[in-house]
Amino acid sequence: MQLFGCGENSSGYLGEPRSCMRRSVNEPHICQHNNEGENSPYCPLWVLKPREITNPSQSVRVLSCENGSTFLDVDGHLKHLGLNPLKEHQLTEMTKVWSPSSITGAVPLADGFAFLSRDGSLLTVRDSNGMHTIQGKPIQHIATRRVDLHNPNLISGAVAIVLKQDPQTVLSFDSWQPMCSFLKTPAPNYHPIHTATFSSPIVKLTSKFAALTEEGEVFIWGEKLPQQPPTPSDEDEEFEDAWFEFSFTNKPIKKWPSRAPELLDYNPRKQPLPPIQELSTGGCNNTAVSRSGQLFVWGYRSNTWPDIEDANAVNSTELKEATIPSGSGEARLQIKNAAAGQKHVVALAVDGSLWSVGDGIYGQLGIGLKQFGLCTEDGVIDMLENETDEEFAVDWQRMDTEALEGRECESVFAEGAHTLIITR
Ligand SMILES: [Zn+2]
Repeated sequence: MQLFGCGENSSGYLGEPRSCMRRSVNEPHICQHNNEGENSPYCPLWVLKPREITNPSQSVRVLSCENGSTFLDVDGHLKHLGLNPLKEHQLTEMTKVWSPSSITGAVPLADGFAFLSRDGSLLTVRDSNGMHTIQGKPIQHIATRRVDLHNPNLISGAVAIVLKQDPQTVLSFDSWQPMCSFLKTPAPNYHPIHTATFSSPIVKLTSKFAALTEEGEVFIWGEKLPQQPPTPSDEDEEFEDAWFEFSFTNKPIKKWPSRAPELLDYNPRKQPLPPIQELSTGGCNNTAVSRSGQLFVWGYRSNTWPDIEDANAVNSTELKEATIPSGSGEARLQIKNAAAGQKHVVALAVDGSLWSVGDGIYGQLGIGLKQFGLCTEDGVIDMLENETDEEFAVDWQRMDTEALEGRECESVFAEGAHTLIITR
């Protein structure tokens, strides 16, 4: 097995050497790697096509790939790809307590991560209070959404859990603390703020608060309610001071002075889809692959900036299937696997070909230097005339899989401006 990836690598997410940031396509790039623009108008280190991240013959399992982070089990070693990855000593400490093979998932907290083990207990690794195990009612699935990014106690975050004892029910909490208390106390002091029971067990729960059930139904919840608590006034000095400390000294905000949690709608909405076998949620879009190999993409459409043509608008009463032309007899390709990143989507077809669509500025589409829109040879873009952004594919592109030659793709993952591919 082997892991390949492409996309943004200025933080070393996809391994060394780190590339420069790519900002705009029509500006020639000048950096030390391209001899101050003498050798090429690009940074030669941009990962614009899939390249290998692990060595061949290693076994690779993706534990989670969401929210700026990917956790991998590579030959029994825990690996973290992220913008601020956990330090090597934290990973080592952690794997002394739990072997990576026992980890089934990871969710972000404001200042660290919580890992879920097969037996249903949680292990948190946090900057503020180190490592901590939370045992109680065993958990089957967990998802967190940090409504407030900077609060280490996740006071205004939202948490969803599915307990092993009742795999058909999602319990929602508007804070990490009530969720922990609920787990630990035999007779709960804290009740979930919402409970939703589906007709079959949940097989996947994502941080966007989406669930896939064994029957193949997809539910989504967690939209911000139109009615929100009043925003604190600008003269809130305590808030200003805490914010200043956070912005300039990176000191965590221990107590959010007067900001109330955001109010979310916890009522699950069933998505109008045929029986689904696989679900992925991303920043702007979500993907679902049906049991018969159809691909569906839906999400937020801006209608002013380029949109993925095959993406249905969120809340559509009917979802139209995405069509990747097969180029031969059959009209469309059968899809095996798909994933959604921040603004791009990738798909693996049953015939082994890899496809991508959406934003590709950082190389996440894996199509090299291909440009779109009205970008002319000398790099001039008329944005007023231009309906499509210069590095945004509105329709499906075949990925450049030269590096994967002779290998069979098993699955694709996407997160942020990254695409990951597991091959056999
Ligand atoms: Zn460079």
